Amino acid sequence: MRVHKIISGEDYIHSLRGRRLNIYLMGQRVDEPVDHPMITPSINAMAKTYDLAIERPELATVVSPFTGERVNRFLHVCMSADEVVQQNRMQRRLGQLTGTCFQRCVGMDALNALYSVTYEIDAKHGTTYHARLKSFINEMQMHNYVIGGAMTDMKGDRSKSPSQQVDPDMYVHVSKRTKEGVYIRGAKAHQTGAINSHWLVVMPTLRLQPEEGDYAIVGALPVDADGIIYVVGRQSCDTRCLEGEIEAGNAAFSGQEALVIFEDTFIPNEYIFMDGETEFSAMLVERFTAYHRRSYVCKSGVGDVLIGAAATAAEYNGVAQAAHIRDKLVEMTHLNETIYATGIASSFQSQSSQSGAFLCDGLLANVCKQTVTRNTYEMSRLAQDLAGGLLVTLPSEADYRNQEVGPRLEKYLKGVNEVPTENRLRILRLIENLTLGRNAVGYLTESLHGAGSPQSQRIQIQRQMDLEFKQNLAKKLAGIEAG
Ligand code: SF4
Repeated sequence: MRVHKIISGEDYIHSLRGRRLNIYLMGQRVDEPVDHPMITPSINAMAKTYDLAIERPELATVVSPFTGERVNRFLHVCMSADEVVQQNRMQRRLGQLTGTCFQRCVGMDALNALYSVTYEIDAKHGTTYHARLKSFINEMQMHNYVIGGAMTDMKGDRSKSPSQQVDPDMYVHVSKRTKEGVYIRGAKAHQTGAINSHWLVVMPTLRLQPEEGDYAIVGALPVDADGIIYVVGRQSCDTRCLEGEIEAGNAAFSGQEALVIFEDTFIPNEYIFMDGETEFSAMLVERFTAYHRRSYVCKSGVGDVLIGAAATAAEYNGVAQAAHIRDKLVEMTHLNETIYATGIASSFQSQSSQSGAFLCDGLLANVCKQTVTRNTYEMSRLAQDLAGGLLVTLPSEADYRNQEVGPRLEKYLKGVNEVPTENRLRILRLIENLTLGRNAVGYLTESLHGAGSPQSQRIQIQRQMDLEFKQNLAKKLAGIEAG
């Protein structure tokens, strides 16, 4: 691992070179992910988190209370509601710039959740996790590293708890202990930006029982630690990037998920932030998911791109001024701003925890994520409506470039006369990318299942909806006596 501070996106990309990661993609071992055409767009998206910090320091950096220096906001623990709000503003901007998942929020949300939870574990058990975490954050800030947050276990048979599984590795757990630290086994699914990270923070994925202490492990480890295997997830139309720039739809940027397998991977004591305190696993999961569910305002930034693409497609078709087209764009904007409104409201309502770190409003965070599970789909339907059927019948870029048929496609695929045919193809491919292709992974299905599937938000909303309070309001106005 390099020791200098990473500043620009270019520095960041350079920092990923020459690592000894055990990566597999489509049956092949990938020696240098930075040069792999299917991985590069996801690295570019992460690199934007560095470049934005240079271009808009007020948005993407903050003065660290630990180092007194300006650090990337993705490595900062929020000490005010305003700082939680600023995270959302930054996320929307990055969604606008990349049109995809830029992958760095999971680590940010993990640090923010762990900061308060480790404080409260120490208060109860006299442990030293909080000081270790602060020292870890300090180290990450000094180098400006990317942290991947690794929470989602494989879960095996969902009707059984971790300790009831036939195969204990269905949940990451401690497999061996030494004086120096612990070894972990198991795997984490859907790990956002794992290969593009410098460090991983492993956390439990659900409420644990007292006898499940080996599963209550939180620790940080470098991505190139011995005993880790990464298997990159397929994405819809991911090989389009091998077929041409127009064909890719968004050639520059994509998200990334990987299956991360730990085969007796060592975590030294100084990087362990929970070990056996099972009663705190639910608190950690709840705080982390609350932060991450309102982080999904990232989708409103991607939604801005989709609205812009749909409006452009309509313009190229010559129907920009039609009343029903304008109305559909209004509807898309309403859906998109509803995502943003619920997320940023959760951040505005943040409250201080015992540690001094601010926690976002859990109810509104879950409402935000539940809204994301629906509105992105409806926005995609509207965008496809505005784009027209050519979206899915468009000939390939290779045909467009073909000497024989290309000139004919140039003639017949033209929309309004003043717009080059190629521009029309490009905007349609972008809409395809966002609603059916590679970045639909992040915009749609990840919006559905990321940070917990829809039912997990409904459970949290049910827990926090305080029906008794609302019934009392109604009864009072209806003149019904209490009791
Ligand atoms: Fe960040 Fe959104 Fe990607 Fe989650 S889905 S890591 S919140 S960009």
